[in-house]
Amino acid sequence: METQRRILNLKDQSGRSVELTLWGDFCNKEGQKLQEMVESGVFPVLAVKAGKVNDFSGKSVGTISSTRLFLNPDSPEAHNLRQWFDQEGKNTASQSISRDMPGGAKNEIRKTVSQIKDEGLGRSDKPDWVTVKATVSFVKTDTFCYAACPLMIGDRQCSKKVTRSGSSRWQCDRCNQEFEECDYRYLLQAQIQDHTGLTWVTAFQESGEEILGCSAKELYLLKYEEQDDVRRCVDLFEPGEWVMRAVAATVGKYQALHSVGSLFHLP
Ligand SMILES: [Zn+2]
Repeated sequence: METQRRILNLKDQSGRSVELTLWGDFCNKEGQKLQEMVESGVFPVLAVKAGKVNDFSGKSVGTISSTRLFLNPDSPEAHNLRQWFDQEGKNTASQSISRDMPGGAKNEIRKTVSQIKDEGLGRSDKPDWVTVKATVSFVKTDTFCYAACPLMIGDRQCSKKVTRSGSSRWQCDRCNQEFEECDYRYLLQAQIQDHTGLTWVTAFQESGEEILGCSAKELYLLKYEEQDDVRRCVDLFEPGEWVMRAVAATVGKYQALHSVGSLFHLP
């Protein structure tokens, strides 16, 4: 399936970062190129002209048809930014202005579980972003992670799915390398419920860690090497409600939520 959108994070000297969503042609042309650059450890300067500022639970920027993107533009600002990034920016954390705030901003689209079903969210071509407040009632433990490439590409982990090579080694097709130990990353299926019903959510790496409070690798080792009761471990997850910003999608005939990592725990 062709990717419909890509989300990038842009940061600058202000110590803040903002999400940029590339839609349509931007996603497939510039987006593909940008992703390849970033994955190979090149972090280009990007200028966005005529982007649309969204005010949904924090600020973010999206492309529209008249938007123009300039990769590594030749301007004094771009050169300053490059210098800052290479010298310190790449190693400093920045605060996102695109994240939900606990309690919610006024423009976020709060839905109950039954509203997501009744309104058929995620059944059209474009993704539907929703914010749900729910408790995690069940976590699938037969499969919860995938074997991932541990190698670094630039300052970021490859993380591509790896396959067995022989009896004791793993192979990454992207890195074209073999190694003895792989990493594990969450692809966690969790059931969430609110007072109106229940649904499934897919939590990727960071959201999985937040929900279960341990890494996918720790849980994997617990399950397969120490043969411990993994059910006992995952039942330790924090009670209470979560506020999660997720994108609704239809997989086969099932409607589900894909968590996008923006997750807040309400004790
Ligand atoms: Zn790799």
